[in-house]
Amino acid sequence: MSHPENADLTRSTHFINNLIEADRQQGKWDGRVETRFPPEPNGYLHYGHAKSICLNFGVAEAYGGACHLRFDDTNPTKEEQEFVDAIIESVQWLGYDWGEHLYFASDYFEKMAACAEYLIGAGKAYVDSLSAEDMRAYRGTLTEPGKDSPFRSRSIEENLDLFARMKAGEFPDGTHILRAKIDMASPNINLRDPAIYRIRHAHHHRTGDRWCVYPMYTFAHPIEDAIENITHSLCTLEFEDQRPFYDWLLAQLADGGFFPRPLPRQIEFARLNLTYVVLSKRKLVQLVDEGHVDGWDDPRMPTLVGARRRGFTAEGFRLFAERAGVSKSDGWIDMSVLEECMREHLNDTAERRVAVLDPLKLIITNYPEGQSEQCFAPNHPLKPELGQREMPLSRELWIEREDFMETPIKGFRRLFPGNKVRLRYGYVVECTGCEKDAEGNVTAVTCEYFPDSKSGTPGADTYKVKGNLHWVSVAHACQAEVRLYDRLFAYPQPGQRREGGAPELERDFLDDINPDAKRCLTAQLEPSLAQVAAESRFQFERHGYFVADRFDSRAGAPVFNRTVTLKDSWQKSKP
Ligand code: ATP
Ligand code: MG
Repeated sequence: MSHPENADLTRSTHFINNLIEADRQQGKWDGRVETRFPPEPNGYLHYGHAKSICLNFGVAEAYGGACHLRFDDTNPTKEEQEFVDAIIESVQWLGYDWGEHLYFASDYFEKMAACAEYLIGAGKAYVDSLSAEDMRAYRGTLTEPGKDSPFRSRSIEENLDLFARMKAGEFPDGTHILRAKIDMASPNINLRDPAIYRIRHAHHHRTGDRWCVYPMYTFAHPIEDAIENITHSLCTLEFEDQRPFYDWLLAQLADGGFFPRPLPRQIEFARLNLTYVVLSKRKLVQLVDEGHVDGWDDPRMPTLVGARRRGFTAEGFRLFAERAGVSKSDGWIDMSVLEECMREHLNDTAERRVAVLDPLKLIITNYPEGQSEQCFAPNHPLKPELGQREMPLSRELWIEREDFMETPIKGFRRLFPGNKVRLRYGYVVECTGCEKDAEGNVTAVTCEYFPDSKSGTPGADTYKVKGNLHWVSVAHACQAEVRLYDRLFAYPQPGQRREGGAPELERDFLDDINPDAKRCLTAQLEPSLAQVAAESRFQFERHGYFVADRFDSRAGAPVFNRTVTLKDSWQKSKP
């Protein structure tokens, strides 16, 4: 995965890399850089996690180090194997490789308990037996110091005995709790004797019923980092106030001979806030559970499994992480930045194809019935090395309904009676009229073609026309389901009060769902699209980038999802 010799090429300049650079210059950890991505297996990864993944793996890659994938599965009740599998698949999909460094925090439970017992023995932890309510009252507030629990002065022997009995399952949930003994008057509330072990009679997805005490996250995380020899532990800003405890805990345990110095260093960065989506697990669960979307991997969902079905690319996410940057203060990134990153990568890599999404028949009345011929279309306008493909042309073609107007509005350059246009890669035709049903709806457009005007033949460019239409031969077309996806929410910050909106009008984020974020069509595709493999990506000319659905698309019966339009249509329509 990592190539230290050309590592500099991938090193971007953000404050985290600057801090790492400084550590290396001081020879800390002998220049080693080791990071981790530590998801809790209680949900699917979302776009925000992609930022953290790109950052952690990217930093390790840039310095020739390793990044661990560690499941932070210290909370027994909410975690499931299903999530573990999906997380592994998503990180791999983003193109990152943890090598042999796949870890589960639950594998460290034994060591964590030993750390806790060491702290008790060193007089740095005690078993408290206050009720949760009393404990809250004793903690104090931001402006008032807390006060000592009456159990704080228990002897080391009593604490060791109580903790052993907690582990042995003698007590029900919530009756006792193990706390670090630091300072109840600390201005930092997180240092007022934080809880480190609680009783929880719960089955764990990996350790089963082995344990009935579980470590608190703030206790477990630093220990996990130290066990794995992490050098730089990157986390989001809300953990800034936890850093003093992180450092305190590891310093105690280093003194106790558990871990060598230098100890891992916690560095906080701003989490990703992205407009037009929600990234809170609770809200994502609600969207799925209440059926507002078709599941976790619905292409509208800001999950990585959703992104994959949507046709977003790993390269696009990496570019996005780079552009969104790493900062020390919270801010919002506009969805258009993410979409533009996907467009850039797809514009470069996706072959061009033709699809008619709203089909109307065009009949070339002077083209012989039963005849057809090939036209040639380049697969990529800027990459001749990608070659070209054949597109059969015949007497009846599908064109877009919007490409014909019986009575043209001003400036309309496509088909209307008397006007000439070019059928892209084919002939110039002149519109002669249209056919209608009893209600007056246009059912077909008629035209005549100029046999000496075929694209690529000598003299073809003597025809000067303003319109250039895409089309598909009716006899050869592949009919297919196409789903047009768009942004899940119609407003930048779902659930937030609108500018100028009445202050008493609290909004629910569900009120801001974009009802047009999914539209299903029956389209007519050029025949070369009939046999494509699932997850193949294309630009459909004039329409945007599309992907063959990962699960529903089959050779012979393709189903396409729109990834993103060709241009941003949201800027001008901003509320
Ligand atoms: P929870 O509330 O369940 O802890 P979480 O979003 O923090 O939710 P984790 O599984 O704990 O989920 O996250 C794994 C890692 O991803 C953490 O290091 C976390 O800081 C990071 N992360 C989560 N959300 C974002 C985000 N929006 N931007 C950047 N990093 C994020
Ligand atoms: Mg978390």
